[in-house]
Amino acid sequence: MKKTMTEREFVSRFKKAVKNGHIYVFYQMQINHSTGRMIGAEALMRWTDPSFGIQLPSDFIPALEKHGLIFDADLYVFECVCRFQKKCIDGSLTPVPISVNMSRYDIANTNYAESIEAIRSKYDVPVQYLRIEITESSAIGGTELISAVLEQLHSYGYIVEMDDFGNGYSSLNILKDLDVDIIKLDMRFLRGDLGGRGATIISSLVQMTKWLNTPVIAEGVETMEQADYMKSIGCDYIQGYLYSMPIPEEEFLKQLEQREHEPLAPAMNLIRTMDAGRFWNPDSLETLIFSNFVGAAAIFTYEGGRAEILRINEKYIRELGMNLTEKEIVRSDPWECMDAENRGIYEETIKKAIASRDEESCETWRSFTSKCCGEDRICIRTNLRIIGKAGEQHLIYAMVQNITAEKNSFLALESNERRFEHAFEQANVYAWEYTVATKEMRPCFRCMRDLGLPPLVKNYPEPAIEAGIFPPDYADMYRDWHRQIEAGVSQLEAIIPLTVGRVPFHVRYTTEFDMNGHPLKAYGSATLVINSKEGNASL
Ligand code: C2E
Ligand code: CA
Ligand code: CA
Repeated sequence: MKKTMTEREFVSRFKKAVKNGHIYVFYQMQINHSTGRMIGAEALMRWTDPSFGIQLPSDFIPALEKHGLIFDADLYVFECVCRFQKKCIDGSLTPVPISVNMSRYDIANTNYAESIEAIRSKYDVPVQYLRIEITESSAIGGTELISAVLEQLHSYGYIVEMDDFGNGYSSLNILKDLDVDIIKLDMRFLRGDLGGRGATIISSLVQMTKWLNTPVIAEGVETMEQADYMKSIGCDYIQGYLYSMPIPEEEFLKQLEQREHEPLAPAMNLIRTMDAGRFWNPDSLETLIFSNFVGAAAIFTYEGGRAEILRINEKYIRELGMNLTEKEIVRSDPWECMDAENRGIYEETIKKAIASRDEESCETWRSFTSKCCGEDRICIRTNLRIIGKAGEQHLIYAMVQNITAEKNSFLALESNERRFEHAFEQANVYAWEYTVATKEMRPCFRCMRDLGLPPLVKNYPEPAIEAGIFPPDYADMYRDWHRQIEAGVSQLEAIIPLTVGRVPFHVRYTTEFDMNGHPLKAYGSATLVINSKEGNASL
């Protein structure tokens, strides 16, 4: 026998229903989908009338709200939950936090926080085992009232959840203005295939909540596909028929005994100067700065080898030359484009930045494959800085610079230089560069190696003469050469026995002049003379 009662009947039977236990509480578990452990539960009001049968919350809640009875009803549910928690504690069973619904009509009642606090202390239940759910629609018409309640609840130490997030009441702005601790994202508001618009909205919402540093519980999750999808976008906490319907107290007690529990991961502590809420807001100055006034940048989280991109700016996409959208990049695995070696370098740098709390930089190669351009390898210089931390999870700001061209030309240069080295080696040639204005000499690698010269020799040629590279009887001639170079002589050459063995070398100088004919540099070379005949083996 089941019949929906009228508004009048709800009102007239309410008091008796409470007294006789016709109104009671069901519990619905909240689970971490990754671990299978219980993280909490929600208390839901139930009403079974002896003559009319089971009544639906969607019928009696509006009736109670309309007739000013919801405050008493909510306090009654809160008391049932306190009694239950007390029973667990007394029975040496570790409770999980239980969320209690607060009607938006309770918000106008300035006694709410005080009243529940009185009940809580009567049952002596630690405040961390009780949570309050406020609904997003409470904020219609302004956030002043709800802010005041929030502040009161926080002052008593209650964790407050934002219920029914995503139902469309300008969620973004409300979240920005209200300091809630947990967000409940209702999947039922966002129905639609997980590949389509619904999914896009959900993943943006989850991303946004990360910015606000607020854990999310996905509600109304009915299928494994939905739960896995939520997990894939970084939301592990699930409440819904997939894991459990709302169940009676005794059944819930059994679940509590059987299932392992775990606490909700702590929210991240952002660096104080950074206002995460404003950062997300598309109209805020912070976003303007992120998008326009800083270079290419990305923000990602890092925990135990797992990295997840949260935000990137337009310039990032351009800098990397990717033909992908922000959404596609955010969804992708950041490690995918790096081989093990480059990933190792990058992760080492992250660890350095965590340890130093300072900016650290690295250069890594990444490869991207696109349908139109095939495989492309790019080199990125990244400057990393930790901007937030929660437990082992770090929030990281990365500035990136595409240095592929620079790197490639450097590699080309390097190989050029190496070719030169080989040539010099085989030709027995020593070379150096002399700067007239500064009297500085830069030796080639071979001079440095064989003659023990530093990379830069000042007051040349004195140190070389002192070192005995030139025999004493040639020293004055060599000094004179440098005077001649300064005076504008363009070519000089002679056979000079060099170094300790006094082996004959063909020493030559060629001078380079500026536009006005003043000498700038002289390029010196010394070639081994073979069989007393000057020659150059390989040239
Ligand atoms: P709510 O706070 O959003 O509660 C979640 C509702 O979603 C519950 O409906 C729950 O049974 C239902 N639900 C949970 N998982 C699934 C799922 O996978 N699929 C579907 N289709 N539904 C799911 P219920 O118990 O009928 O409550 C409806 C609403 O009534 C609640 O929505 C809440 O707004 C209100 N309510 C319930 N208990 C209380 C209470 O003690 N005080 C106040 N003020 N409101 C309450
Ligand atoms: Ca709720
Ligand atoms: Ca809800």
